[in-house]
Amino acid sequence: MRARTTPLALTVALAVGLSACTSPEPPPSPPAPEPPSELSAGRSEPVTDPLYPQQGNPGIDVLHYGLALTYVPGDRVLNGLAELTIRPVHDAGELRLDLAAGLTVTESTVDGVAAPAAREGDDLVLTAAVVKDRDIVVTVAYNGVPAPVPAPARREDMAGGIGAQTGADGELWTFQEPFGAFTWYPVNDHPSDEALYDVTVTTPEGWTGVSTGVYQGTETDDGYTTTTWRSADPVASYVTTLAVDRFEMYEQRAGEVHYVSWVPSGFAAQWEPLFAELPELVAWLERRYGPYPFPNSGIVAVGGRSGMETQGTITLSAGLAGGNGDRRVILHELAHQWFGDSVSPRDWRDVWLNESVATYAEAMWAVDQGMLTEADAVAVWSGADQRMRDEYGPPGDYDPGAFASGNVYFCTALMLHGLRGEMGPEKFDAMLRDWVQKQRNTTQDRASFTAWVSEYAGEDMTAFIDAWLDSPTTPRA
Ligand SMILES: [Zn+2]
Repeated sequence: MRARTTPLALTVALAVGLSACTSPEPPPSPPAPEPPSELSAGRSEPVTDPLYPQQGNPGIDVLHYGLALTYVPGDRVLNGLAELTIRPVHDAGELRLDLAAGLTVTESTVDGVAAPAAREGDDLVLTAAVVKDRDIVVTVAYNGVPAPVPAPARREDMAGGIGAQTGADGELWTFQEPFGAFTWYPVNDHPSDEALYDVTVTTPEGWTGVSTGVYQGTETDDGYTTTTWRSADPVASYVTTLAVDRFEMYEQRAGEVHYVSWVPSGFAAQWEPLFAELPELVAWLERRYGPYPFPNSGIVAVGGRSGMETQGTITLSAGLAGGNGDRRVILHELAHQWFGDSVSPRDWRDVWLNESVATYAEAMWAVDQGMLTEADAVAVWSGADQRMRDEYGPPGDYDPGAFASGNVYFCTALMLHGLRGEMGPEKFDAMLRDWVQKQRNTTQDRASFTAWVSEYAGEDMTAFIDAWLDSPTTPRA
């Protein structure tokens, strides 16, 4: 089943109509969405990142983000009202959040009382006395033109920076791994602090905002359109999303999953066949890793030239693979919904926890499709291993300036291939399936993965895993 919010011809007519006359003044910021009554699923144990300690704050645990965002593509200005429910981890006289220096804070409160705000680079520091484990509500009103920040990476697709980006017509999208959510909202921008989300995105009529969580619906009033999003599963900030374009919606249901995808008008014919294949790709992954972990799935097609496993709705550049996406990339990002989004790395040392399985699953799917043989896949990984270790460091101890390089993909997919050989396919498959099914909505690390593998292997696999993650040379298979 499929449905479009606006027929293509009508969308074009609206766009022409809006550009031919003055857009109505943006409406006043709507109130920030209310948090749900039960917030325990948003509770985390935040840590300081060993590689990127300037991001995030282990002193606070954000339970819920309520974001009311208004974005006007004509002038690229984002107006935000953020309401954060926070559990202070210890007593303190100030609260520190990540928020890009280019965004201006106009008002801030803690528990309804005005709290002075200071800026220190990309930190927002609010003066307020807080008490350990006594939840507080922080509101921040802000505005500005969102812009990306430099990526700690050497990848071509990250050369333009990470975070919110805007295109030629004012359309907006985000790619923000390992950080960059702070370019569009105040956030504890670290994967160890997952939280629940309620988001509204208001745009001039004819444009649509897409964000994180289950799509709740669209309302248009007085020349402006508001979409509403809710995530009852905790989300890490690097897999939240915001995208604004003249989107058409494509919707279907299969099994327990509601698929909602978004494509800029004019690109629908190209993308709809890919959207239609999503349930089949999810079913392939479910046969290996158990039930899909979230109520929603889909794709939002955006600018740029990357793909990202944003939670539920994955983000894919429209120009990827000649404008028609690429099924292997989609399979890869879908695999991350289990490995990365549902079970997340506690800090960025362990990004290999995500990329090893996504790379491995992507290859095994391609083998199933007859695109290559398992021997071909292993030969590619083996052929790359030493060079990747030389260029970027071993995958468990990589150069922090080379985030998400080939080492955390190829070297660790080869490690999984080796583990499968050591354990046998049945134990290996059960180990991975149980890892994601029995630990849904948790953060994990190398120690917990090693203990998990060792239990299924029936022997201590520490030396094996450490060698693959830390050795400057390819371990002997
Ligand atoms: Zn990946």
